[in-house]
Amino acid sequence: MDDLSKLCIHTITTKPWSIEEAMDKYAEAGVAGITVWRQWLEGRDISRVGDELRSRNLEIVSTCRGGFFPATTKQGIDDAIEDNRLAIREAAELGAPMVVLVCGAVPGQPLVEARKQITDGIAAVLPLAEELNVRLAIEPLHPMYADDRSAINTMASANEVCDQLDHPLVGIAADVYHIWWDPDLESQIQLTAEKNRLFAFHICDWKTPTTDFLNDRGLMGEGCIDVPGIRKMVEATGFDGFNEVEIFSERWWAKDQDEFLQAITHAYLNHS
Ligand code: ZN
Repeated sequence: MDDLSKLCIHTITTKPWSIEEAMDKYAEAGVAGITVWRQWLEGRDISRVGDELRSRNLEIVSTCRGGFFPATTKQGIDDAIEDNRLAIREAAELGAPMVVLVCGAVPGQPLVEARKQITDGIAAVLPLAEELNVRLAIEPLHPMYADDRSAINTMASANEVCDQLDHPLVGIAADVYHIWWDPDLESQIQLTAEKNRLFAFHICDWKTPTTDFLNDRGLMGEGCIDVPGIRKMVEATGFDGFNEVEIFSERWWAKDQDEFLQAITHAYLNHS
């Protein structure tokens, strides 16, 4: 029998809610985990937010997001590294064991160069991650974002960066929205798990037609992704982490968020 004990929700999914509202509503609904987007911590006492989350029995799965390493100037590269160090410190203060990395890309910059800067950037922040024991999860993004959001677009590409860094704190966040189309998906999920670097699993759905490349994601069951099938592949590797619902949707954000939360738990139980 399925339940909500492995359901995690990203705060951006219920974007209209503050962290205070989100934590109360998620806990009331029986959601077990939360991934906190950094914007939700702005102006807050971060360690206190962590205590509040734990007092509601919400497991803090990760923070989102670090990354955006590539830049065309030395200053830009340095600033990105500093921001990632800040993200790692914030995660430690919150009590989150992991930061998700949306690695970044710069329009016009060769992707090979961007990937090198990403690898070097992660290497530069690793000593702090080690000191604070925070894991870094590289999230490959769908190739439609290769222009300005991520030069890491497949599980294989993410695994290459992990291979180069070869560090137990560096792994991968697998998000169905970005990787569902990959003919090598199953073997890549297996390989990632074998190397002990399958750190996170994000779920949502791909709508047809998709009217906005960023903010028109679907709830599980609204689109064409075989979420239950991919979840089976992930769980077959022994992965026992959370199923993290991460949905950017103007359509859902415009609705009553209490209804949306009900729809999320229903979709989680019936379509994932
Ligand atoms: Zn994701």
